[in-house]
Amino acid sequence: MLVYLGFDLPDVAPVCDLAAVHDLQRRLLREAERMLGPRRGCATIRPATFVATTTGCTRRVGDTISIELEINALRDWSCCVAELAHELVHALDGLTGDPSWLEEGVAGAFGAAMAITMFEDPPMYLFEGDYLEALRLTASIPDQFAAIKSLRAQGIALHAVTVQQLMAAAPGLSADHAALLCRPFRQVPPVLGRYMIG
Ligand SMILES: [Zn+2]
Repeated sequence: MLVYLGFDLPDVAPVCDLAAVHDLQRRLLREAERMLGPRRGCATIRPATFVATTTGCTRRVGDTISIELEINALRDWSCCVAELAHELVHALDGLTGDPSWLEEGVAGAFGAAMAITMFEDPPMYLFEGDYLEALRLTASIPDQFAAIKSLRAQGIALHAVTVQQLMAAAPGLSADHAALLCRPFRQVPPVLGRYMIG
């Protein structure tokens, strides 16, 4: 592992050292805010927990955001970094709406960037299906993290970016490309006061 964000990699699996996972969470959130702009809203992000499933998620109930990491993150630090960084991007705007392809792509790109920076063998196998396509679409935005930071600085949430706003923030991006990114990623059935995002 390459030293990054001042994080000391423990000798044991993530599930055996939750204090280190939560230290990593604080460092990744600071880095997400540095690269993508400060988080908004008053919700509290709780320390991440592990679930023995194949799907991680971030959910908001009331003013509390919870992050659940899946079984690969439970046993492998590079997966833990990629997934935790991904879920923290969803939390940046307080989970105030269903994600767009852009939001999923930015979450994936930030997770991949953190894992690639910290590990010589990042877990790219985690990206498949629509998540891989969202990553591809986002990675090909010119200077994507700076473009997203400028949009968020205007008070625009990731899930609510319009085609015109995205094209203005990323000169050179085609209208077709922007339109693909601004689609809803997945329709989540509305439940009062509650959002859940993978
Ligand atoms: Zn996601």
